[in-house]
Formats: sequence, structure tokens, C-alpha cells
Amino acid sequence: MPNAQDIIDLIEGGIGEKEKKLIKDAFDFAQKAHEGQTRISGEPYFYHVFETAKIIAKLGMDANTIAAGLMHDVLEDTEVSEKEMTEKFGEDIVFMVNGVTKLGRVKYRGHQRHVESLRKFFLAMSKDLRVVVIKLADRLHNLRTLDNLREDKRERIALEAIEVHAPLANRLGMGKLKGELEDAAFPFAYPKEYQFIENLIAEKKAMYEENLEEIRQTLEKELGKNGVDVIEVNYRLKHKYSLWRKLQRYNMDIEKVYDIVALRVVVNNIENCYRALGVVHSIWKPLPGRIKDYIALPKPNGYRSLHTTIFNNEKGIAEIQIRTKDMHAEAAYGIAAHFAYKENKYKAKNEKIKWVEDLKDLTVIPEDKSNKLLDHLKMDFFSDRIFIFTPKGEVIDLPENSSPIDFAYAIHSDIGDHLSSTKINGKMSQINTILKNGDIVEIIDKKDAHPSSKWLDYAKTSLARKHIRVYLEKNSLLAKLKSFGKS
Ligand code: MN
Repeated sequence: MPNAQDIIDLIEGGIGEKEKKLIKDAFDFAQKAHEGQTRISGEPYFYHVFETAKIIAKLGMDANTIAAGLMHDVLEDTEVSEKEMTEKFGEDIVFMVNGVTKLGRVKYRGHQRHVESLRKFFLAMSKDLRVVVIKLADRLHNLRTLDNLREDKRERIALEAIEVHAPLANRLGMGKLKGELEDAAFPFAYPKEYQFIENLIAEKKAMYEENLEEIRQTLEKELGKNGVDVIEVNYRLKHKYSLWRKLQRYNMDIEKVYDIVALRVVVNNIENCYRALGVVHSIWKPLPGRIKDYIALPKPNGYRSLHTTIFNNEKGIAEIQIRTKDMHAEAAYGIAAHFAYKENKYKAKNEKIKWVEDLKDLTVIPEDKSNKLLDHLKMDFFSDRIFIFTPKGEVIDLPENSSPIDFAYAIHSDIGDHLSSTKINGKMSQINTILKNGDIVEIIDKKDAHPSSKWLDYAKTSLARKHIRVYLEKNSLLAKLKSFGKS
């Protein structure tokens, strides 16, 4: 039987009594609200939100986010009102639950062209990165229980996880969650390819592990001898989905993938990272061109570490990643690690989180000069953009105050030039209607429909205005020629 304590036990470093009580209350509240509801598998619905909350707790998120995770389906799927939940749990938690509910309405229907817009839309709708984290945890648990769904539905959900959710986890620096999402989705999204990778790894696994174990022992001994304080040395095999992606880039030649096996050396400070790298290179020959200093030059998503690839005689190649404990937590948990630091006062962190800042580069963002983490989390990433859907679920990203005319031209100039009428959310509407975020717009085009000069007043995007002008000029030229011919 699920128990609130199971969630609390997963929180590294422990939490205060007030937070414990909050999690217990949210647990009881959600359990009662979902009473009698079951999932397709027949198990109680509550199990799903319980497992989701456990994933969130393991990521190191704060008690409010865990509580929101427990109650994330309550407003959508039960009789409980928003008012009741607000009275009991306050606005912050209800804000997150509402955010997750809204995100549930975004549907992916496999349009490659627009996945970037869909990712942006997801962020825009969330308004708070904690909402994204809950949604990603929710999705991970759904992926792990996909077996019970219809095949076509399974595939859609799995592809969406790979195209939309995993890249978002990656953007948020949550490397561990990204890998877990991809690996849970992989067998359902690409069954044949998954089987291929399974077989490939099964063959070599024992050999890889032997190599890793040997390197690990040598490394621990040598680092100790050289006085480098080591917190831990562990190793991992590459996630299956990312291995497959890499193999595609290398003509399916596994010998060219150098990071199938990687060791992680976690040390106590940056100086020891560089000293450890020196020790590694004095034992094994590094592969030229594979030494990377992501501490001096972090990756765009904030990842920091030293990498080098070494030859271990005939046993093969291994990547060695060297980092501090903080870097290690950040690489795995990204935004969640920063959040946990703040909540536990584990570390005073006042510097700007560069990769959260970088999220802004996706589009124009309003001024935000504050350094506070919550402000970052609640940043309105795309306040001057709206995201509009075609009836097939493609998403088009437009500036605020756009009309169906802008939308039509954003799809194709030919559709714009023949726009006749439009349906917004299923209702016939004027072509100069100002569109709202999340509207579903259907364009009805006709051969004999054409732009008029009035359209220039209705169009917001320069793309649409350019096409309208081109059409009008061509047309007036034709009219002049015609009247010229007549006289
Ligand atoms: Mn859910």
C-alpha cells in the first residue's frame, strides 16, 4: 500500500516537520479525491499520482512541488473544486496543479516541422518551471505503464515524449530525467530499433563491465596515492536511446561510439578535478581530440565536467568524466538541483543560472533583472508570442494580436493568398479576429478568394504583409495593363 512516508524517505537530506505535514496532507487529500477511480490496468488511480510524486521527490524538488504532484490530477479528474484546494493548500500549489492540467490539453500529433514550437508552447503554457518538472514526472510514469494502452495511442505518447518532453528535460539540464524518458519511450516509439540495441548491448555487456571495473579499481588506487580526495567513482552504460541516436550518426558502427561506457569521478573541488585529469592521463593514453573542459566552457544547458577518453589496452575505450559533487547533482537534476539547494540552504547560490537565462534566447523576453530563483522559475518566457493550432494539431508560433490572415500565411503563402473564411475553435469567425494562445484555427481557402487592401490593417506579421503587398501590386499592375489594352 502506498504511504506518504515512502515519498518523504526519498528526499535526500530530509525535510522539516512543516513540509512533512504538507506532503502527508496532500497524500490524504489526493487519495480521498481519487477514491474508487481505477486506471486501465485495474489498479487504483491514486497509484499513478503517488508514483509521480515519488519521481518528483527523487529529483530533489521542494515539498510544495511534491504536494502539487500528488494532487496534479485532482482538479481535472475529481469533484474537488479549486476553491476547496486553495483554502486547504494555498495559491502556489493550486497554481501548479492548474498549470499541469492545462498542459495536459496540448496534444502532439507527430509533425516534425513544428516540434520546436510545441516545446516553446509547453514552456509558455507552464509559466513556472516547477510545472514542467511535474508534467515530465507525470509523463515518465505514464510511459512506464504504457503496456496497458492501445498500440496507436502508445506510439503517439512515446513519440511525443522523445520529441517534446525529453528535449525539454535536456534544456532544463535534467540529464537523468531526459535519459529515463527516452529509454521508457524507446521500445514503444521504435520497437525494431530498440530490439537491435538490446541485442547489441546484451552481447557486449559483460565485456564492458569487466573493463569498467578494472579501470575503476586502478583509478581509485592511483587517485588515493596522489592525494586527490575522491567522493565516489561510479560507472554507467550509455542510455539505450541515445546510443541508438549516436549509432545512426556513425553508420551503425559501434566501434566509433566512444562513450558507451563512462566512469564518473566525483571529487570535492574544482582544483581536484584538474588534478584527477592529470592522474588519469599519467595512467592511460588519452584519445586525441577527446579531452573536453566543460568546466571552463560549460555546455549551453549548464552542464559542467571534464571529459577524456582513454585506451585501456586491448580491453577497449572508456570515457572518464570528472566533476565536483555540485556539478554531479546539476548534471543529473538540473533545475531541480538548483531548487533543492535553495530550499535546503545547502548552498547560497546567488549567481545567475546561465542556462535558465539561455532559455530566453528561444525568443524575445521581457526585462528581468532579478537574481531570485523563483522569479526565474516563474518567468513568462514567451509573453509576446501566441501558439495557434491547426485542426491536425500542428502548432504555429505567432506574435501577439495576430489574425487568421497571419496564421494562413504562416502555413503557406498560397493558403494566405486564397484565404476565404475561417473557423476558430470550431466556430465560423471573421478573418480579422485577434487570435488567443491555444486557439485551434481552420483556414477555408477558395480558388477565387484573394487579398484586399483591407487585409493590410488586419495582418500583424511582416511575412503576411509582404505577401499581401506583392499580391496587390501584381493585381493593380494587371488591372492597369488590362485597361491600357482596352483604350
Ligand atoms: Mn497524471
